[in-house]
This record gives sequence, structure tokens and C-alpha cells, in this order.
Amino acid sequence: MRVLIISDIHSNLTAFEAVLAHAGDFERVICLGDVVGYGPDPEECVQLLRSLPDLTCIMGNHDAAVLNVISTGYFNPEARKALLQQKDLLSQDSINFLRGLPDILILNELTLAHGSPRDPIWEYIDQGRIAWAAFEYFDGQGCLVGHTHTPAIFTESADFKVRLLKPNSGDRWIPCERFILNPGAVGQPRDRDPRAAYVIWDLEENSFLFKRVAYDVSSVAERIEQRGIPMLQARRLSLGR
Ligand code: ZN
Repeated sequence: MRVLIISDIHSNLTAFEAVLAHAGDFERVICLGDVVGYGPDPEECVQLLRSLPDLTCIMGNHDAAVLNVISTGYFNPEARKALLQQKDLLSQDSINFLRGLPDILILNELTLAHGSPRDPIWEYIDQGRIAWAAFEYFDGQGCLVGHTHTPAIFTESADFKVRLLKPNSGDRWIPCERFILNPGAVGQPRDRDPRAAYVIWDLEENSFLFKRVAYDVSSVAERIEQRGIPMLQARRLSLGR
């Protein structure tokens, strides 16, 4: 069975569609959160995600922020405006879907969390020291995370040494130690490669194939402008950062 692993779609429908067209056949989908936030098409992204086969999705910090924007005074005025705009673009049905997402769960013996198993929604696993601590917080061999928008694999050896691998597009990886794997971001990559990132997990051979696909960033930039979203977001997409 082939499982599509995605994260951080961030309301970027064009990138999301490019990934689905590029990924080939898959029978199951794991989405690691941040379906909404930043981009122009939150409603379309939630609907497309929900149409995918055998979907498992967890909550990201942006999904949580959009849901909580009315009830908290926690956000600065600009962030608050952006979150309210995302919320206005979402149907009640999609808001209910986001509200029902768990923040952590276990699937096929893998732990799924947007940020980290220690602090599922907010913590960034972006360095070995943090990964080293995170390994304490899940059982079993592997944990899948998103949130940093950068494809990465952290491995933990039997003597608790942590190593960081930075997979390139086309790399196929088979775990033999404990690991924390990040597929990178569909809708807003931050590793200076603007192509949308995803992973195909082959359950039979237990391999993880890292992939990137280019998409039409300029059409997303146009919709960002039409929606009145700050053009900084379009610039980030074109630079991949
Ligand atoms: Zn994100």
C-alpha cells in the first residue's frame, strides 16, 4: 500500500493540486496539519483534503489559531487580521472539520504530531538537541511531524545519538533506527526550494520516498493579491523561505 504523507498545505490550492497530480496512486493519506493559514484558498484546500481516500489529519498551530482567533487576544493586530480573513473564507462545515482534528495520534505504530510529540501543536523540531528530547516522548519506532516546512529525518541510535539527514527529491529511505520524519511543506516550503514537498510511504517495503514538484507560484501570487493578503506571502513562495 502507498500512503501519501503531506503537511503544511497553508491554503495553497495550486501547490496541493500539483502534489496530488504528481504523487501517482495512493490508497491512504496522512496530513500533519496547517491545512489553512497564509494562502488564498483555505476552503478549497479543506474540501480537497477531505475528498482524499482514507484520510488521517491532525491539527496544526495555524488551524488552531484560525479556530481561536475570536476567543483570544493573543495575536498581534496584523496576525489577527490575517486569521480573521482565513476564517471568513471558510464554511461552517470546514470549521467544524478543523475543530474536530486531534493534536496527536498513533497510526500503524507511528506517532503523528504537527510540531513534536512533546508539544504537538507548537514545538519546532529543527535541531538535533530538540529531536533528542522529543525521542523521549513517543513509543515505537517512528514519529511524523511537520511545522518547520523543511524535509528532514532525525535518527536515534541505540546509544541515543541523534543524527540529522536532509533528504533530496527522489531519495528513498528505509528506517533501521528510531526516527522522526518531516515530509516538508506542500504550500510554503522554507528550505530555499520553492517546489512543493511530500513523501510516499510504501508499507510493504517500509520505505519513505521524498519528492518535490514545481507549481505555478505566479497564479498563487495573483490570488494572494486579489484577496488582499500581504504580498510578502507571495514573495516567500517564490523564494521558498
Ligand atoms: Zn505551518
